[in-house]
Amino acid sequence: RKYTGIVEDCACGYETVDSLNAEVLHPILQDLVITPFFRYFKVKLWCDCPFWPDDGMCRLRDCSVCECPDYEFPEPFKKPFSGLSVDDLICQEGKPKAAVDRTLDSRAFRGWVEIDNPWTQDDETDNAEMTYVNLQLNPERYTGYVGPSARRIWEAIYTENCPKYPAGEVCPEKRVLYKLISGLHSSISVHIASDYLLDEETDLWGQNFALLYERVLQYPDRVRNLYFTFLFVLRAVTKASDYLEQAEYNTGNPEEDLKTQSLVRQLVYNPELRAACPVPFDEAKLWQGESDPELKHLIQKQFKNISAVMDCVGCEKCRLWGKLQILGIGTALKILFSVDGQNHMNQQLQLQRNEVIALMNLLNRLSESVHFVHEMGTSTENIMERR
Ligand code: FAD
Repeated sequence: RKYTGIVEDCACGYETVDSLNAEVLHPILQDLVITPFFRYFKVKLWCDCPFWPDDGMCRLRDCSVCECPDYEFPEPFKKPFSGLSVDDLICQEGKPKAAVDRTLDSRAFRGWVEIDNPWTQDDETDNAEMTYVNLQLNPERYTGYVGPSARRIWEAIYTENCPKYPAGEVCPEKRVLYKLISGLHSSISVHIASDYLLDEETDLWGQNFALLYERVLQYPDRVRNLYFTFLFVLRAVTKASDYLEQAEYNTGNPEEDLKTQSLVRQLVYNPELRAACPVPFDEAKLWQGESDPELKHLIQKQFKNISAVMDCVGCEKCRLWGKLQILGIGTALKILFSVDGQNHMNQQLQLQRNEVIALMNLLNRLSESVHFVHEMGTSTENIMERR
């Protein structure tokens, strides 16, 4: 099946996304996520599930996450923040209150901050229980986490927190959350399919095309939602371009850090991207209805619940990537739909280092999934549908 036309609710076509991703975005992101700055993610892995007793079922040893020894991760990451306090926030003036802010202050970056993300559940400033994880050593792939435990998580997410509304019947704001989660779910399934344990006895890993088809390709909606989520996160990254370009990527290794800065610049100010798809998703079209503040609060609460459900994921590696990617989406929501989630569209953007690490790693995961579906989708469908 060939996907043509504009990605739903976005401002970019499928074919444009495929070629931009293959030629420009994917190669840059692949280099970016292996830099020392983007390789280490701070995460609270040991947490009690607030909803039901832990019955984590994980068949493979591969489920467990290998944490970083203290000497491994960058020295500057260990220091307490010398960043500016919340009192230093300066509101931009002269913008109509109700209008969605499409731009960000030109003096965008003012040091990394430690403030909680209003869209997620974790207390990100609580450093005591956090550990650093080297993402390169803990790839997201098949872990053997299946059965009732895994199913219960997805069920709790969909039925309680982001129901699927029929297209056209409700306002687009309500559909956004479902599409983001479904797109993330597709991406996770694509990664399981692209890095699967084919033979346990011989420890043979490879691609599982039947799984790719059964879980994702045979449902065009799931593919569409993957593209939607990719464009949504890409829009957040380009909207925060000034902030991201000015940010400090200091890990104590000047050569590597310059490379990181240069890759970020290549991504956020990319001429091909700006020419072919200048506004991947137009957030200004949302939140203009009368129920604006209430609706935003409701969606924020639902997303917080989804974030809390991540503590119930019974496989450590899945929990790591689940938390990272939910924080990444939470960061994209924060960038696109106001800073504090209230209604202060004109507040200056402030991001945590960990939020930026999550955002870029999420974008890379989505870019990999889009790439894999584009490369393998048609041939897999042909084989599976002939069976
Ligand atoms: P599931 O993928 O569990 O899907 C459950 C139901 O959700 C389906 O029956 C369908 O009705 C619906 N559904 C499926 N896909 C979509 C979609 N894209 N959009 C809308 N609805 C959909 N396993 C690993 O091997 N490695 C991992 O890294 C990993 N990470 C995970 C992270 C999280 C946060 C969670 C909750 C699970 C993770 N898992 C991981 C488990 C994996 O996602 C599956 O749950 C598991 O492989 C069982 O798959 P399943 O075929 O039962 O369907």
